[in-house]
Amino acid sequence: MITNIPSSQDLTRSALTSFFAAWHSLIQLFHDFNRTYDLDDPQWAEELQDYYEHCQAELETIYALAAQASELALKARICDVSPYLLLLGNGTSFGEATGDTDFSELRTIDAVDLPNAVNAICSEKLSDSFKQRFTEVRKLRNKIAHLGAAGKTSDPRDILKLLIEQYCELWPKSKFLKLWIEYIGSRRYSYFHDGKWCSAEMEFSEVYETCFSLLSKRQFEKLVGFKKSQRRYICYKCIYSGGLNRHDMYSDLLTAYLTQENVLTCQLCDECSDVDRKACSQDGCKGNVISIDEPFSDHCHTCGQEQDE
Ligand SMILES: [Zn+2]
Ligand SMILES: [Zn+2]
Repeated sequence: MITNIPSSQDLTRSALTSFFAAWHSLIQLFHDFNRTYDLDDPQWAEELQDYYEHCQAELETIYALAAQASELALKARICDVSPYLLLLGNGTSFGEATGDTDFSELRTIDAVDLPNAVNAICSEKLSDSFKQRFTEVRKLRNKIAHLGAAGKTSDPRDILKLLIEQYCELWPKSKFLKLWIEYIGSRRYSYFHDGKWCSAEMEFSEVYETCFSLLSKRQFEKLVGFKKSQRRYICYKCIYSGGLNRHDMYSDLLTAYLTQENVLTCQLCDECSDVDRKACSQDGCKGNVISIDEPFSDHCHTCGQEQDE
């Protein structure tokens, strides 16, 4: 019999890991430049161009991960109907079997055939633009795999756009920021997350503003779920679980939105907090959303300061 039959959930998890490995590297690549220069300042245009060229090898890895993410996500969709459909089209033949056959030893559907197979088998169809991008990325990835280089200079901003479109088509109903931080919490480095000096929230807090600044209004709304111009607030649940309060890093993590008059919803942890609506007592703070939950009750969700008696 065939053993180790993959599940759609396993494939989706692997697809998301590949996707966010690409995404996180790309955002770090932008962020590293921003730490010394400024991505948006035209006076550094020449440095930025040099930097992009310097990054080509890493950009190629990012392309390869993006291609892998798409392939796994499409396989997950087919697998959701039936894992055996992944064996389609390869004329799988069996020799005289003496024992079990591991599914991974069988040849599965070629990547080139995946989009059409999904559209024939699954109820949710892929758009033409997705199919076109899928082919482009796959070709580029193959070039890199066989020739060592894609042969053209990649612009990281084009890759960013590509990843956003890919994500929106593959996982339109999922919480982007939550999946991103889950990825950060699953990486090799998370072994050192002690919640005191180092945590997924701290790693996230370092890079997310660079990411937000790169997103257009439309991209922001698609990924984060709220308008880019809408005011963001501190989520004390994330501050606490990430240990940011130990370092007075309150305003380094603004990921919550007012979803009702007295309720904040955080896009990073996906949890709600009840709040009091009154003016913050701190000089110079215009905030009027005050925490009522322990252990940060009476803290302002805008400036992070405790209210004066
Ligand atoms: Zn949160
Ligand atoms: Zn305040």
